[in-house]
Amino acid sequence: MFEGSGFQARYDVTAKTPTDVLAGKWYYGFECSACHTRFAVWDDPGAGAKPFTSKHPCVFRVACPHCKTDRLYRTDQVQQFRAGQTPPA
Ligand SMILES: [Zn+2]
Repeated sequence: MFEGSGFQARYDVTAKTPTDVLAGKWYYGFECSACHTRFAVWDDPGAGAKPFTSKHPCVFRVACPHCKTDRLYRTDQVQQFRAGQTPPA
């Protein structure tokens, strides 16, 4: 819940493509607000042991690798997940 006044850092980040994502590895990412597909953005070096943290709330601008929709996501929307656990649609 941080909107309105005040400085808020915004970062442009790039989603990993499906071919970059290795089954069994842990990632941080987002669920696309347009097509609801989860995609990875960062490697999770802690393999699920530690939640995503940031010193300050910020927003990330990232394009969904599936539907190409460019959206803004907040720090609290970051998802931590292990790849390869969902069957192909
Ligand atoms: Zn999408």
